[in-house]
Amino acid sequence: MAQHNHTPARICSHCDGHASVAITLGGRDCTGHLRTVTAHCPACHGTGTRTTPAVLVRAGK
Ligand SMILES: [Zn+2]
Repeated sequence: MAQHNHTPARICSHCDGHASVAITLGGRDCTGHLRTVTAHCPACHGTGTRTTPAVLVRAGK
């Protein structure tokens, strides 16, 4: 009765679904907001999902 808990194939393997992150630049602007830049995962381009279906990856296409 082993349970197989696989990661869903649609989640990007590079970022594990966390496709966009905000990186602080340090300090705050004149309105008091934290200065940040947004970085997207280079593999899925910020979507968090795999762009190539797993079937095609296994087949080498
Ligand atoms: Zn990704």
